Amino acid sequence: MTHFDSIMIGKGLVGAAAAKYLCSLQQKVAVIGPDEPQENDSFLVYASHYDQARVQRIIGKDANWTRLNAYATAQYPSIQAQSGIHLHTGVGCLYMNPYGKDSYLTNLPALADEFGINTEQYTLDKTTTIKGFTFPAGSAGMFESAPSGYINPRMLLQAQLKLFAAQHGTHITDTVTRLVPQGENQFTIYTHSGQSYSAANVVVATGSFMNYLDVLPQKISLQTKSEVVLLASVAPTILPQFATLPSLLYELDEDGLEGIYLLPPVQYPDGHYYIKIGANTPMDIFFTELASIQDWFLHADISAYTEPLLRALKKLLPALPDDKIMTKKCIISRTPHGRPYISETTTKGLYIAGGCNGYSAMCSDAMGYVASQLVHTGHLPDGYAPDAFDIVYDPV
Ligand SMILES: Cc1cc2nc3c(=O)[nH]c(=O)nc-3n(C[C@H](O)[C@H](O)[C@H](O)COP(=O)(O)OP(=O)(O)OC[C@H]3O[C@@H](n4cnc5c(N)ncnc54)[C@H](O)[C@@H]3O)c2cc1C
Repeated sequence: MTHFDSIMIGKGLVGAAAAKYLCSLQQKVAVIGPDEPQENDSFLVYASHYDQARVQRIIGKDANWTRLNAYATAQYPSIQAQSGIHLHTGVGCLYMNPYGKDSYLTNLPALADEFGINTEQYTLDKTTTIKGFTFPAGSAGMFESAPSGYINPRMLLQAQLKLFAAQHGTHITDTVTRLVPQGENQFTIYTHSGQSYSAANVVVATGSFMNYLDVLPQKISLQTKSEVVLLASVAPTILPQFATLPSLLYELDEDGLEGIYLLPPVQYPDGHYYIKIGANTPMDIFFTELASIQDWFLHADISAYTEPLLRALKKLLPALPDDKIMTKKCIISRTPHGRPYISETTTKGLYIAGGCNGYSAMCSDAMGYVASQLVHTGHLPDGYAPDAFDIVYDPV
């Protein structure tokens, strides 16, 4: 059985980042996780990052999120230069609330001041077009310019794994089906393909799948939810018209949609450019079993999401044609305190890094850094509240 100083379970955005950082601190580091399944493939576990774009902003809901975002964005130039992989586009990020100022906008000036971020702020007394989007009278909002914008999560993952491999990290394509603590700082890990590995430290970075399979000795409090996005194709002839749109977070709460996120046109693997829109809806499903997640991804009919998402998109971008539309499935997880979990569990040497809350792609590099520091030094890096990322457990 091969022994490692640390094993990351989960080859997603957070696990890959943690593996990269730990590799510079320890001799033998491994990351174990499956590759992205192809369309209609069956799979044991899925992921939240199988897509071409994720919103990137810096000012988050509080100082802890903002510090994570600021750290991550500061790393993109060197990650891109060292890996040779382009993953970040600084088109800016617009945040709007159609009902006026909310708690995020109220807290914004203090956070902008603390982190030295310039913003443009808006209060609209009539229907107005801002940065290419149309908003109703009464809206309030703000714009953060580059480095806010968007990242390509698939490219970010590829880059992190490349930098990990360059430091002689061990990359294992498999799914962990069982973790057995053998005493303090001693773990045996069993995989779907029948392999086993041992490690002194284990970081569980399995995204929305933390409570599934036999990985964590104690269940954590984590809500997992289905997420559906709509992709609207942008033909090459009209691409220039939409090419300068920023990313958008839009706090709409009507017509069966709540909390819209929208990505400007990005190219997908089929070669076409798509604008993407998503939101929470009452149709979303809260999962409690792995089998229902697998079934939803493989069989659920999501056509009912098309109309409300398309209506919202057409209100924001009235000039966008809707001749080629498709929907896609994804999954997110939420923690009770609304921040990620990056903490040691009650089992010494076993850590958790994840709990996405819909915002962890943009700061995944920083979450990996924080996790690596925690494993290496026993505490969070300076600046974070000591209990910022504490784990909440499900009552036994
Ligand atoms: C539609 C959608 C839109 C989003 N938009 C944004 C956005 O605009 N901005 C933003 O910042 N975030 C956004 N997010 C959230 C973001 O994608 C997630 O926060 C991020 O991917 C979380 O990274 P992670 O590494 O924790 O989890 P994941 O990316 O899900 O990675 C977890 C990995 O663990 C693996 N795994 C699971 N179980 C096991 C196991 N037992 N053994 C081995 N491997 C395992 C999985 O295969 C996966 O590769 C969005 C999410 C969705 C679904």
